[in-house]
Amino acid sequence: STFWGGVPMGPPDVILGITEAYKRDTDPKKVNLGVGAYRDDAGKPHILPSVRKAEENLFNRHMNHEYAPIAGDATFTNAVAKLALGEDSPALRNKTNCTVQSLSGTGALRLGLEFVTKHYGGVKELWLPNPTWGNHPQICNMISLPHKKYRYYDPKTHGFDLNGACEDITKMPEGSIILLHACAHNPTGVDPKPEEWKQLSQVIKDQKVLPFFDMAYQGFATGNVDNDAFAVRLFEKEGHHIMLAQSFAKNMGLYGERVGALTFLCPDQETAAKMMSQVKIMIRTIYSNPAINGARIVSEILNNPELNQMWLSDVKEMADRIISMRKELRDGIEGRGNPQKWNHITDQIGMFCYTGLKPNQVERLTKEFHIYLTKDGRISVAGISSKNVDYVAEAIHKVTS
Ligand code: PMP
Repeated sequence: STFWGGVPMGPPDVILGITEAYKRDTDPKKVNLGVGAYRDDAGKPHILPSVRKAEENLFNRHMNHEYAPIAGDATFTNAVAKLALGEDSPALRNKTNCTVQSLSGTGALRLGLEFVTKHYGGVKELWLPNPTWGNHPQICNMISLPHKKYRYYDPKTHGFDLNGACEDITKMPEGSIILLHACAHNPTGVDPKPEEWKQLSQVIKDQKVLPFFDMAYQGFATGNVDNDAFAVRLFEKEGHHIMLAQSFAKNMGLYGERVGALTFLCPDQETAAKMMSQVKIMIRTIYSNPAINGARIVSEILNNPELNQMWLSDVKEMADRIISMRKELRDGIEGRGNPQKWNHITDQIGMFCYTGLKPNQVERLTKEFHIYLTKDGRISVAGISSKNVDYVAEAIHKVTS
């Protein structure tokens, strides 16, 4: 015990802590709006029909369980890169991308940022939007990568602070790295509009900053995977050598399969080959080679035209349910004559809504109404259903008027 006696107790994970408290609550009216996973209208985890079908196909193929290549199977990496970058991607045409399978989005971020600490020739400093997903700064801390914040969310408008962001970007040192949420920003649900992305691209280019896109929700924001890839594709078209972390947790409901990808766009094939050699060495020392099951499911869905069509409608169905719950929630609050403005509930996009509720109002929601959410007022719209939306609207109305 003496050897480990100096280990201090770490803080529990905030979001997982909320789920624990929710589980302990015995009130039948309880609602969990903390969880970052999609739920169907009955509040249950959702298995996508396209995923089920892909699993059946794989099962019937009686495949073996040999090791995958270190970077993952090429049928997987090619398909996922195309999903993100699109049919007309110059990098894919010229084979100047370096794409590897990763342990979901988190693993892609970690691998990408660790690669930065070892091999990056620019300024080893990451700029994160304020606010951002809590794991971003935590990953940086773990690998001793300095991180700073740029302005992103404007609490006054509940929207994007374009001027603040641009001003902060112009102050970033040349060669530093900026993290951008490709779509469905977590936790705010606030995304730049297409014209705003164009401005950001220009300012980032002028400042010679490297963009790292975190794309954990492709298809989840608008229901269309091409729309949601707008920013990533625009930045490629404008000549940025982006980094990209992809996750299939949300858009395929493959949370526990831990399947994702990390891509670097490189200036030429030679650089891409050198980068690939080094990423493979890193992977080799962390987990040797990636898990095969989730990657096979994703690959089957993306490479089988029939399943691909099915999946696109599965994604749209999830996004549409969330969009309709946003509308019902807003109508429910405004319909009760609430004095505040609630347009941001429907303006924001993706799984999360940054309600603007104050910590004391959040506390009342939990104590008096058994509704669980993070202290920052973020709610997971996926936790709202036709059965509880009226109850949640009533509760929010009561704590805000
Ligand atoms: N980035 C963001 C912004 C996220 O919200 C998430 C999921 N909560 C992830 C990355 C990665 O999740 P996963 O590792 O499950 O793919």
